[in-house]
Amino acid sequence: PLSYVNRQLLDVLGYENLEEFSNDIDGLVFNTIHPDDVDRVTKDLTKCAQNGGFFETTYRMRKKDQTWFWIVSRGTRIKTNRGIYALLCVITDMTEFVKRQNETNKQNELLLRNELTSQAVLERMPGGYHRCANLDGWPFLYFGSSFEEITGWTKEEIEKEFNNLFINMVYSEDIPVCESVIKDIEEYGYGNAVYRLKKKGGGYIWVSDSTMIVNIGDESFYHGVLADVSDQIEEMERAKKQAEASSLAKSTFLFNASHDIRTPMNAIQGFAHIIEENADNGVIVKDSIKKIIQSSQTLMTLLNDVLDLSRIERGKDKIDAQPIDMVEHTAKLYEMFVGEMEQADVEFIMKNSIKHPLVLGDELKLTRIAMNLLSNARKFTPSGGTVTFGVNEENFNGDGADYCLYVRDTGIGMSDEFQKRAFEQFERERSSTESGVMGSGLGLAIIKRFTDLMGGECNIESSIGHGTEITVRIPLKLSSVSVPVIKPEMLDFSFAGKRILLVEDNDFNREIARYVFENAGFEVDEAENGVVCIDKLNESPDGYYDFILMDIQMPIMDGYVATAEIRNHLNPYIANIPIIAMTANAFESDKEKCLKVGMNGHIGKPLDAQAVLKEFARVLEKQGEKK
Ligand code: ADP
Repeated sequence: PLSYVNRQLLDVLGYENLEEFSNDIDGLVFNTIHPDDVDRVTKDLTKCAQNGGFFETTYRMRKKDQTWFWIVSRGTRIKTNRGIYALLCVITDMTEFVKRQNETNKQNELLLRNELTSQAVLERMPGGYHRCANLDGWPFLYFGSSFEEITGWTKEEIEKEFNNLFINMVYSEDIPVCESVIKDIEEYGYGNAVYRLKKKGGGYIWVSDSTMIVNIGDESFYHGVLADVSDQIEEMERAKKQAEASSLAKSTFLFNASHDIRTPMNAIQGFAHIIEENADNGVIVKDSIKKIIQSSQTLMTLLNDVLDLSRIERGKDKIDAQPIDMVEHTAKLYEMFVGEMEQADVEFIMKNSIKHPLVLGDELKLTRIAMNLLSNARKFTPSGGTVTFGVNEENFNGDGADYCLYVRDTGIGMSDEFQKRAFEQFERERSSTESGVMGSGLGLAIIKRFTDLMGGECNIESSIGHGTEITVRIPLKLSSVSVPVIKPEMLDFSFAGKRILLVEDNDFNREIARYVFENAGFEVDEAENGVVCIDKLNESPDGYYDFILMDIQMPIMDGYVATAEIRNHLNPYIANIPIIAMTANAFESDKEKCLKVGMNGHIGKPLDAQAVLKEFARVLEKQGEKK
């Protein structure tokens, strides 16, 4: 029964007052509802009347003029002050909304009913749309041209080759994959899978397939779209294989390296014992010491190679371009190897063809490349052979050219198969035990990485038993500045009477350094870490020390911190004292860091007396210039 309507609703419905409205509907709201909507609305309202809460229901309502209009009725159950329940409804006119919706529906229906539209959509839809019946072998009902493009099969071929059955197109090993996806589809309504389809002319392509099931009456159909993912899958498989190969190469390396480390270590220990027992025999002592030095050099090379590579791998390496004279550069390399080649009874020839020798390049890296190539040529060329090396200048373009460093030998050569992976790290054609040749399999990898870094390329030509030629082509700019020369008087610099403070935590290293510097005429004082160093400086009278030789890694206070403190010292003698760093690895960025914290120079370990003295001379010279 109706108890109240407000003025607005009466106006909308076209009644003068509540009485007229109530009479017209026999006092029952029920009579305002369209017969087709009445069941639904009654259900919604009854539920709210019985249980409380809120309702929202859409239906057609009758006006006084007997026309129907769409409304939304929202409301809730309330308790009146007479203690009985009533439904409070707020009605919104939906005529416009429903009208608009009907129009869009009509348009959509028109489009959908039009076969041509849906055909056009399916035909042009990217992603290999296809439709199959849910019957044995999944017969094709339809596929668009993109399906033909992706699979590479035409409609006629699919009919002829596969009897128009999807299952026949699937690469046989992957049929179980498709069957398990169908189970998913039946359970959840859709499914995704990556599997292989047969490819025209043999082989397969990888596809990623998303399929839905649509039920119409008792029949069901599969609608699927697929994309060719062969490239992605191949890339993944390649990466996986590469990772496996590199992990294998690493374990082989570790196995070989422990052998290659142990061999020179055994030699060092062995010859040291020989010296111990034959201390009085000058000939034996001298010979043993020579072998100890050789073995330790082998160890050093191995260590440096490993460190260099890990550094490059971590992207820490960069180019440090300085003026270089290529003719002098190659001459130095020739000098370095001529003795070794002679000893190995290998003829050693240098042939240059350089028109513009003055270039800007990273001398350390160029030297390293040449040294690795030359030492390989020597290692893998039996006595009586020949090694030729040189640099050819090519493609001069006004401000630069390609400099092609080549090393050619008549040695044992490499197989075609090995050449393909020769530049990979840790790769060796034969282990040290097999070939009797020491090595780490890192030399060529370092060459390749350095060359890449400089924008160049490497090339191998080799055949087993005939020899090898490796060419490294590097583009370099010409230098307008000439190469600075170390003046001979700098090396004659007198160190006599100069006092250095040697800051180093390792007893053996201190002992060696003291020996080197005392031999060169220095007076040497020692400190075992940064704190002791600063204490000693504080206790010394002004001008007492001429130099500090500073280790970097030390306990209590390291070299960087100590240098920073010294540079901030209030006493100008201490704040300005020359400091030269000693580090185990002479990397560019280490040097940079040393200079940044205020050191004046840098030398690498193990200490080479000549190099140390040159660096001292350089720093002294610079100080002299400043004054
Ligand atoms: P290592 O020399 O320490 O083994 P490399 O990376 O320099 O490492 O060389 C890798 C491998 O390439 C060598 O073990 C050898 O099998 C082959 N190789 C390199 N240079 C030559 C060469 N000139 N002649 C023959 N084989 C070579």
